[in-house]
Amino acid sequence: AAKSLGRSSHQVFSPELRDSNRNRLELVERLRGVAMAEHELEMLYQPIVELSTRIVVGAEALIRWNHPELGLLMPDSFIGLAEDADLIIPLSNWILTQVGRTLAAWQYKDFNVQVGVNVSPLHFAAGTLATDVNSIVDSLGIEPGRLVLELAESKSLHDVDAVYYQLMDVRRHGSLVAIDDFGSGFSSLERLATLPVDILKIDKSLTQHLDSKDLQRRRAMTALCKAVVEVTHDLGKDTVAEGIETIDQLESCVDMGVTFGQGHLLGLPMTATQFETILLQNGAHSASA
Ligand code: C2E
Ligand code: MG
Ligand code: MG
Ligand code: MG
Repeated sequence: AAKSLGRSSHQVFSPELRDSNRNRLELVERLRGVAMAEHELEMLYQPIVELSTRIVVGAEALIRWNHPELGLLMPDSFIGLAEDADLIIPLSNWILTQVGRTLAAWQYKDFNVQVGVNVSPLHFAAGTLATDVNSIVDSLGIEPGRLVLELAESKSLHDVDAVYYQLMDVRRHGSLVAIDDFGSGFSSLERLATLPVDILKIDKSLTQHLDSKDLQRRRAMTALCKAVVEVTHDLGKDTVAEGIETIDQLESCVDMGVTFGQGHLLGLPMTATQFETILLQNGAHSASA
């Protein structure tokens, strides 16, 4: 149970440990060595809900590392290490394969769901992202439209042309692309309009101000989100609000016409098996839909 809950439920890797070089090295070595092979890494699935119907239409795959000594490690404490140590491509392909296998199993069971997977900007930079994704989709027999790549715009686009062509390639093959964390840090409306993407994910830092006690901030954030949602829908793309934690935030998202929602109020990250139980209850199973 602990591993399904995340941050608060288990020993968490402390910032002091993270900053120590010795520990960084040990983590990198373990990641390079046994972590993938020994099943210490695990993908959890957080429900994504259609706000108008409350039906679970998909999930975001989120990685966890159940370290034998350090306990549960969150992605922010090791993805960066993997990127720095040239391990991100093998890790990224491991993630895509795991998620792909789960997706194939759900497809076989007639669960009508899409799954989002976060991709590292370095995988784009390596130039192999699109071919890796498309070949995993083909070799596992996944309907490509069930896979959504999540690309965090703010940190990703060193070589915009390379990203652009790989996104086009993935979409031509039938998979979808989402801009992740829109509104956190630097986000560009110009890129929103020109990048070949299907979905915009509104960052939790925006969502969480929608019911701020600071009325001025609340009004400002609501106005901003409303504008972003309208532009996004005018561009023919869908919207997902991330980090929905309260009923007020949820209602605010519904009011402004956000298509989908994700957040602790709607569902925590959980194991694939737990997610299947949710699907059986909620009408996303096509046999009962
Ligand atoms: P993200 O892609 O924006 O993922 C959403 C994050 O928000 C997740 O954190 C999720 O657990 C958290 N979250 C969901 N609902 C709520 C909520 O209501 N309130 C709050 N406060 N947080 C919520 P997590 O799992 O720690 O992941 C953090 C980031 O690490 C992700 O942000 C993503 O950028 C990266 N990441 C996670 N899994 C992977 C992966 O498999 N590959 C890569 N390359 N990056 C990953
Ligand atoms: Mg994401
Ligand atoms: Mg996000
Ligand atoms: Mg994030």
